[in-house]
Amino acid sequence: EKGKPLMLNPHTNKGMAFTLQERQILGIHGLLPPKVETQDIQTLRFQKNLKKMTDPLQKYIYLMGIQERNERLFYRVLMEDIEELMPIVYTPTVGLACTQYGHIFRRPKGLFISILDRGHVRSILDNWPETNVSAVVVTDGERILGLGDLGVYGMGIPVGKLCLYTACAGIRPEKCLPVVIDVGTNNETLLKDPFYMGLYQKRDRSQAYDDLIDEFMEAVVDKYGQDTLIQFEDFGNHNAFRFLRKYREKYCTFNDDIQGTASVALAGLLAAQRAVGKPITEHKLLFLGAGEAALGIANLIVMAMTEAGMTQAEAREKIWMYDAHGLLVKDRSQKTDTNQEAFVHDSPGDVHSFLDAVNTIKPTAIIGVAGAGRLFTHDVIKVMGTLNERPIIFALSNPTNKAECTAEDAYTLTDGRCLFASGSPFGPVTLSNGQVFTPGQGNNAYIFPGVALAVILSGVRHISDTVFLEAAKALAEQLTDEELAEGRLYPPLSNIREVSVQIAIKVMEYVYAKGMAFRYPEPMDKNGFIRATVWNTSYDSFLPDMYDWPGVSFKPK
Ligand code: NAP
Ligand code: MN
Repeated sequence: EKGKPLMLNPHTNKGMAFTLQERQILGIHGLLPPKVETQDIQTLRFQKNLKKMTDPLQKYIYLMGIQERNERLFYRVLMEDIEELMPIVYTPTVGLACTQYGHIFRRPKGLFISILDRGHVRSILDNWPETNVSAVVVTDGERILGLGDLGVYGMGIPVGKLCLYTACAGIRPEKCLPVVIDVGTNNETLLKDPFYMGLYQKRDRSQAYDDLIDEFMEAVVDKYGQDTLIQFEDFGNHNAFRFLRKYREKYCTFNDDIQGTASVALAGLLAAQRAVGKPITEHKLLFLGAGEAALGIANLIVMAMTEAGMTQAEAREKIWMYDAHGLLVKDRSQKTDTNQEAFVHDSPGDVHSFLDAVNTIKPTAIIGVAGAGRLFTHDVIKVMGTLNERPIIFALSNPTNKAECTAEDAYTLTDGRCLFASGSPFGPVTLSNGQVFTPGQGNNAYIFPGVALAVILSGVRHISDTVFLEAAKALAEQLTDEELAEGRLYPPLSNIREVSVQIAIKVMEYVYAKGMAFRYPEPMDKNGFIRATVWNTSYDSFLPDMYDWPGVSFKPK
């Protein structure tokens, strides 16, 4: 590419950072102001503009605009202030952006496949301009964060997740493909909205839906290879479990809402256990919510407990769940499903509320993943503080207004004794005695980019749950004692790039040791290998390789 098209392509555009020689050779001289800028100055300009904005959605639109114009600059800006900007490109603001998708839409990002395209998925995939994709994030928009069914507006999620693949783990942006599968939406508001951008139909729940997903999976590996990573994101509960079971042995796939969440939550528990001073096997956990997140976390905890010496049955006895119909117990009138079976116990007595459940079960930890708002009431938090010297309180539901309690409530109502984590970020909390706590954010972004990096680099064909157990341990190890003392259960997000590399190293060592890796030869120095492959944001030169042939004469001798 030369000339103006090169400037219009976000992969190649450098804006005013094109040098004089480049401008001349590429035929773009005069199309830019005369000044040649460094990326540093370009970055400062965007940072300054971002600082002036107060509305998170405005920041989102502005940032995504940079991504459309100059990709390297976008990632530079994102990575320099990742702690500030992650809540913009990811939860909570990405949720708002999804609800407003049809109104803030500028340029399309990602690939849209609808149920009307059945039989033609491969040709749609062929329209995607990149030939070398290694990671796909796909949603059908049915359960976007805790916001419910947003149909095709869910595209914001795969786009945002893949931004983090690059920003957090240095996976090249052109290797990442965001996909929305549109099979309709049951969101009545969207179906009535003239600006909605998907199919105006109720969700297809028929065999056609399954066939479409099958066709999609086949088309992806047919085009990009058997070891292409396919991350499932924000599917409705029933489909999420079904597809995970159906595809996990056949494709290189994982479900972030189930497995990524499990890993990050377990890492938080492992860190908390360091503070409490009790091994994981001595904890008793009560979940609020019994869906994808709850079951994913619970199953991984069972795995961690059995690794620590318990039987599976003993471990399961330690875990209780409370859903929209109350405690999961045998013989209750509302049915539980097979995914939940392991955590359905004999009734412990009369339980009519979550508070009753806490009082009866006496958990050391409560984990909120119901997506239903502030259900850890003041009473619940206080009782947790009475039952435990260091109660563990995780309010993981996203976005912020769905969190089960605020950080402030958790710390103040337990006099600063609780170990708290949330899914969306909360600022530091100062108690009346001046003590300051920095709440941990159990953000999946700690896990999936590092795991994805390792999986891609090792040629893993199936991702086993043990990979997420290893990742959780690796993440918990990243937390220093000083950070733990500040109330943190996760290392600062500003460190995410290094954290992801460390997780990738551990996971890579693990998958090679277990014979799960198929990329040969095995890199012996995994640390060096990973660091040498990660993408960075410095601009490439467009100058051709120019040199002289000194002293050569073409006169016939
Ligand atoms: P899901 O599969 O739909 O599960 C939701 C569960 O919550 C269901 O068991 C549901 O029970 C239960 N529930 C709903 N309303 C309730 C209420 N009023 N009281 C008690 N239980 C209630 O959703 P999910 O994937 O698990 O996600 C749930 C939440 O976790 C979302 O807000 C999501 O954003 C958040 N999440 C956070 C992270 C993170 O922080 N790292 C990661 C993943 C998910 P019924 O089945 O009986 O309706
Ligand atoms: Mn999700």
